[in-house]
Amino acid sequence: MTEAVSVKKLTHFINGELVEGKSRSYSKVYNPSTGEVIAEVPIATAEETREAIAAAKAAFPAWRDLSVAKRAEVLMRFRYLITENMDQLLDTICTESGKTLEDARGEVTRALESVDLAIGAPHLVKGEYSVNVGGQINAYSAKYPLGVVAAISPFNFPIMVPLAQTSMAIAVGNAVILKASEKVPMTSLFVSELWKKAGLPDGIWTVVNGSKDAVNELLENPTVQAISFVGSTPVAKYIYETGAKYGKRVTALGGGKNNMVVMPDADLEQVANAFIGAAYGAASQRCMAISTIVPVGEETADRLVAILKDKISKLKVGSYTEEGTDFGPVISKESKESILKAIDLAEQQGATVVNDGREVDIVKNSEGFFVGPTLLDNVTKEMDICDQEVFGPARNVVRVGSLSEAIDFINDQELANGVTIFTNDGAAARKFTTEIDVGMVGVNVPIPIPVGYHNFAGFKGSRFGEGHMFGPDQARFFTKTKTVSERWPGTTETTASTFAFPSN
Ligand code: NAD
Repeated sequence: MTEAVSVKKLTHFINGELVEGKSRSYSKVYNPSTGEVIAEVPIATAEETREAIAAAKAAFPAWRDLSVAKRAEVLMRFRYLITENMDQLLDTICTESGKTLEDARGEVTRALESVDLAIGAPHLVKGEYSVNVGGQINAYSAKYPLGVVAAISPFNFPIMVPLAQTSMAIAVGNAVILKASEKVPMTSLFVSELWKKAGLPDGIWTVVNGSKDAVNELLENPTVQAISFVGSTPVAKYIYETGAKYGKRVTALGGGKNNMVVMPDADLEQVANAFIGAAYGAASQRCMAISTIVPVGEETADRLVAILKDKISKLKVGSYTEEGTDFGPVISKESKESILKAIDLAEQQGATVVNDGREVDIVKNSEGFFVGPTLLDNVTKEMDICDQEVFGPARNVVRVGSLSEAIDFINDQELANGVTIFTNDGAAARKFTTEIDVGMVGVNVPIPIPVGYHNFAGFKGSRFGEGHMFGPDQARFFTKTKTVSERWPGTTETTASTFAFPSN
């Protein structure tokens, strides 16, 4: 692997400043399209993380006490700055993640949906009020910010996930510490500068770069009140269990293995187009990517596989700087190797390789971390690739005989993030949406990602804890409800004391 001529030394962003790491430990950041090292990111120690938490704690009260409308004004300026700095932002995302320009643009649009929703926070944190609940007492429930909260994010959406995790938290009055992915830290540092320019007070947005030590400090430190995690399932489970042990409110979203069911009455040309984008877009590095297509009936399967084979063979894999690229590289050399191994193993276990991504020129001859689009037919439950998340462009065909069999196959799986069905039969769609045990469900849509003002989360191994990412539920997750019973007696009134339990 080649070392780039100039390797940037990155920083943290603490108390409104870019701060050098003290640990002297750095992790390499790559341009996945070229395999070059483009930067080194500091790995924070527990002590550095504690200092960041202390700065956030000190900043919190003034931000809490600002009116919710004034806080929303900062978010509006921040939103404007994102659009004003779009080119530099897109370039940063593409360079460190390998995404195509079009895909990165889509990601930023989705990130803005979270900011938009958070700008509307004043509406979402309105409380409830009852007059005269008894003896001239009025009662109200009001939402208060939690204090210092933390977000830990994955590599695959360098801006969308961090902003989905944090925009509402900031809008409702918390101080946020982001532990960005060490694989794509440059986008979060760039976003930090935009927050500062937007007028967000120092200490309300912090980026601590690093990995385990920083995360463990966030989990254990008593000042941190809530943890929003997005990443792989084993880490999500660890975060949930450890956070709970230390008394934190935790939402931990994990991986996905998402299915697309195809009924015999569906338009297979439309299905194939939907599948190609949903399955291979972003080199399949989306938690909501379709991993497995589940045609119902042998005839549907045979026709569909023939159409897919042709379309997949025409996909162009390359760098985002090349014209007409459909998808780029995967994030790292290790990731590439593990995907190629998963394909080898599936073949050994009996899967039919319809399109072989191992054989594509760029996969063999480039220093970049490319894997070509791979389609494996006749995948069965006994094969490892059937239910393990492969975060790269190796996709499965699982053939079933009926809709009920498709539903049973999906409901048996541990990962339950998203699912979709293609059909013209309303009754089949209704049975499917009713019986399927998956968090986000689509009917005739390629990827059922909810828009930013609806809640987003899977079930089972795809989510630990109760909260959602995106959506109004964020306002609940990042606030605590205080219920006040209030009475203001006149000066001439007396209140008889009572030892009985108060009733109305
Ligand atoms: P990851 O789990 O490896 O890392 C996520 C974050 O956790 C990173 O910030 C990382 O530094 C930190 N981390 C990793 N190992 C840790 C450990 N042992 N202790 C403490 N912290 C640790 O995930 P990734 O590879 O960055 O992202 C890809 C994964 O994220 C995929 O599984 C994908 O499906 C999932 N994902 C899920 C969603 C969702 O909404 N459900 C969204 C995006 C990505």
